[in-house]
Amino acid sequence: MQVRRVVLNSRPGKNGAPVPENFRLEETILSPDLQDGDVLVRTLYLSVDPYMRCRMNEDTGADYMTPWQVSECLDGGGVGLVESSRCSTCNEGDVVTSFSWPWQTHAVMKGSVLQKVDPQLADGHLSYFLGVVGLTGLTALLGVREKGHVIKGANQTMVVSGAAGACGSIAGQVGRLDGCVRVVGICGSNQKCKALVEDLGFTAAVNYHQEDISVKLKEFCPDGIDVYFDNVGGDISDTIIAQMNKGGHVILCGQISQYNKDVPYPPPLSEKTQETLQMRNITRERFIVLKYMSKADAALFELSQCIKSGQIKVLETVVNGIENMGDAFCSMMKGGNIGKQIIKI
Ligand code: NDP
Repeated sequence: MQVRRVVLNSRPGKNGAPVPENFRLEETILSPDLQDGDVLVRTLYLSVDPYMRCRMNEDTGADYMTPWQVSECLDGGGVGLVESSRCSTCNEGDVVTSFSWPWQTHAVMKGSVLQKVDPQLADGHLSYFLGVVGLTGLTALLGVREKGHVIKGANQTMVVSGAAGACGSIAGQVGRLDGCVRVVGICGSNQKCKALVEDLGFTAAVNYHQEDISVKLKEFCPDGIDVYFDNVGGDISDTIIAQMNKGGHVILCGQISQYNKDVPYPPPLSEKTQETLQMRNITRERFIVLKYMSKADAALFELSQCIKSGQIKVLETVVNGIENMGDAFCSMMKGGNIGKQIIKI
């Protein structure tokens, strides 16, 4: 069987933005002969995610992530259909997902790395298994619950950076549902600001490319900021933390503004921000979703209920074709997406 796949063509280097030329499309022959335990899958949707930037380096800087190898097929979150199976847990026609799905149109995978999913959970939208009812939704929901200390009736204000992205767009909605009286998003375009307020129910949004975040936050958060869901780090986070209240909480989810730089994770804070955190007794604990997988089933069920009832709205940016994986990844890293960046194969 002829298949197409995407391999790593070159590394961008620790300092520097990834470019589409770092990826290469290849055609190859896949033998559909299955060994015991094997499953032949057809890829339906693939995910590109910020953590993949670390996998492009020779050393990912994290023990839970292996580097991608030059000239080898890449992998990440994927969802697909079982076409044939020699594994007792997978049957032809099953919809399955995996965190290590090859960027390949068809693949033979071990049934043991595949997770069977019920399309009902995603209200029939199979790409949601890579987003709101997948790791992204879990990151948003569990991040807020584990590190946000949101209390109904406590008149809290939440700010989310990277707010129009996959995690941010869900995190803000969870904050609102859990009881924050104000949820303000920071993002990179007027179109994104509009979507946050008009479609997702954020109280207000700030376009950091055009507006003064500090001035706008004073206007939108008159009682200060209690909870900050941090996806981006850097100057944006320094500005937000400067307006946080005593006893506030930073959910340290990600620091994408620093991913193209040769710095450790989490990147060191400025002295001034460190002082603010200390003086105001603000917690800033690192959140890693993979540490909370024992809570995944209940959280996914809750997210599923919320999308079916319309309490959580889902945004996606869908690109067609495996040949566009590299472009889609680079675009997402620069803010080309609203909601979850998905590639339909
Ligand atoms: P997104 O869908 O949010 O896509 C990335 C977004 O980051 C872009 O759309 C862009 O939006 C924004 N961005 C890029 N560069 C910058 C910059 N220099 N300054 C400010 N914003 C920037 O991705 P995800 O939702 O998948 O991931 C969001 C964050 O969550 C990442 O930091 C990621 O590493 C982290 N994460 C953490 C997990 C955990 O377990 N802790 C699990 C999953 C993700 P804009 O137009 O607004 O600039």
